[in-house]
Amino acid sequence: MRVALLPGDGIGPEIVREAARVLDVLRLDGLPIETESAPIGGAGHDAAGHPLPEATLAIAKAADAVLLGAVGGPTYDTLPRELRPEQGILGIRKALALFANLRPAILYPELAAVSSLKPEIVAGLDLMIVRELTGDISFGQPRGRRRNAAGHDEGFDTMHYSAPEIERIARVGFETARARGRKLCSVDKANVLDTSILWREVVTRVAKDYPDVALSHMYVDNAAMQLVRAPKQFDVIVTGNLFGDILSDEASMLAGSIGMLPSASLDANRKGLYEPIHGSAPDIAGQDRANPLATILSLAMMFRYTFARADAAERIEWAVRRVLAQGLRTGDIARPGERAVGTKAMGDAVVAALS
Ligand code: NAD
Repeated sequence: MRVALLPGDGIGPEIVREAARVLDVLRLDGLPIETESAPIGGAGHDAAGHPLPEATLAIAKAADAVLLGAVGGPTYDTLPRELRPEQGILGIRKALALFANLRPAILYPELAAVSSLKPEIVAGLDLMIVRELTGDISFGQPRGRRRNAAGHDEGFDTMHYSAPEIERIARVGFETARARGRKLCSVDKANVLDTSILWREVVTRVAKDYPDVALSHMYVDNAAMQLVRAPKQFDVIVTGNLFGDILSDEASMLAGSIGMLPSASLDANRKGLYEPIHGSAPDIAGQDRANPLATILSLAMMFRYTFARADAAERIEWAVRRVLAQGLRTGDIARPGERAVGTKAMGDAVVAALS
């Protein structure tokens, strides 16, 4: 189990340090985990003049899985576009051919009060969004700017999916649903878009291989509404890049703090890049205030999806639930007046719960 640790910038090093301690516990308990660290983002630029140094990419390619902290920060905002920290993440996603993005939105009952929705609507929420990551309107050609016949400037992009691209993400959706509540909702805009009509046809065809999973289809505008009206109706949602981008951010807010939410980006062989969904939080970096739980929960996803060790994943998730039940809260998930613990104390508590 070779794991590349890419802490990045801002709070990245602090939260990845706590996750690495979780790996230490599992290694002591017998899992054959090897880790290697490398700089990415602004740290990559500082160390080697590039947000994705060649040596970092080589380590990530040689690894079975990658744990990333976060990148970015005000120091790097003035760099030219190709040297900016986020190019490190975009570059590694592309180099590793990560096409499936898995984003769970889980609301632990202990945190129901920090969600922006009423507790009865969100308490116990546990949904997974499977988003296609390498196709769609962000990458379709042609795209660009031109002057039209009437002399007006116009911009244009092309929504584009091929049947094999839809099929492989649909299969990730069905497999994910099969390992959970066996319900898959495919989200599209088939009442308007040709791309979506093909999407729906392919997903329906693939469904024949998964008779044990209940498939439904929903238009994206309705899905956006249902997510805030009755989010617990969903188990797994599968959708394209653009719709998934928007719906997964919407879903993350149901869960309260972005400090709690992990993610996985997988290739065709289940190699993955695992990272919290939040950024580098420069406003609290270096102050022992960051919540490390999203990063620790990203490790749980790593054991479930790359290493097929649901037992280790459940053990990590159980430890996180336990520290929440014990009342530990970092600042982002504390209610007004509640005492907050630091990054390290939260990591200590998870390690203790694991042990
Ligand atoms: P952000 O997610 O870093 O922070 C938003 C707010 O959430 C801040 O108030 C921050 O303190 C808080 N927050 C975030 N993570 C937290 C945690 N683990 N614990 C407690 N509080 C947390 O988003 P931003 O402020 O828009 O961006 C800051 C930098 O991060 C920018 O340079 C941006 O480009 C970068 N960014 C990186 C990624 C990534 O690495 N994947 C994603 C988003 C933003």
